[in-house]
Amino acid sequence: MPFASVRKVADADLPTRWGHFRILGFEGVIDNPESCNNTLPPSSQRVETAVALVMGDIHAAPPIVRIHSQCLTGDVFHSLRCDCRQQLELALATIADAGAGILLYENQEGRGIGLMAKLQAYELQDQGRDTIEANLELGFAADCRHYELPAEVLKLLNVPAVRLITNNPEKVEALEAVGIHVTQRISAEVAPEPTFEKYLQTKREKMGHLVS
Ligand SMILES: [Zn+2]
Repeated sequence: MPFASVRKVADADLPTRWGHFRILGFEGVIDNPESCNNTLPPSSQRVETAVALVMGDIHAAPPIVRIHSQCLTGDVFHSLRCDCRQQLELALATIADAGAGILLYENQEGRGIGLMAKLQAYELQDQGRDTIEANLELGFAADCRHYELPAEVLKLLNVPAVRLITNNPEKVEALEAVGIHVTQRISAEVAPEPTFEKYLQTKREKMGHLVS
């Protein structure tokens, strides 16, 4: 693993509109991380954090799991530039219906480029660039997300196999690559809105996401 260490830093109760979860905080430290932006100097260490919302018995069978990347604009403000909020709600509802599951929420805003850069990317998108072109123009890779931390969290939770809610084949590959078996892929497709039609088109055509 790329991490020098991964540890659980908190474990608390979290009642929600979808039911009762535990909320667990995790912190991973990476030494000499690869930079995702060719205009910024490399750093000697990066700390990544993620939370896990855990409901029910996650060990009786491969649990339903969603790896969600933080999206302030979508998750908090219900933005319709992207489908993040709808996917988050879909995941929580699916877990609640099953009575068990794990939502892994990664603190990597804007596909890992950070909130301010994501807003700058929005500006470029308003001028006609798609999501990938905008990230590249700001000096970033097309997608700066890593899925190693959620994989390590699943290992710490003793979960060797999952039923993964995703449209993103990279997430399936990332888990399989570290030995976490994806026994089933559950679609994360949500009702489309005209405001994120182009966003979904780019995901499908340039990132290989499985959306119709
Ligand atoms: Zn979003």
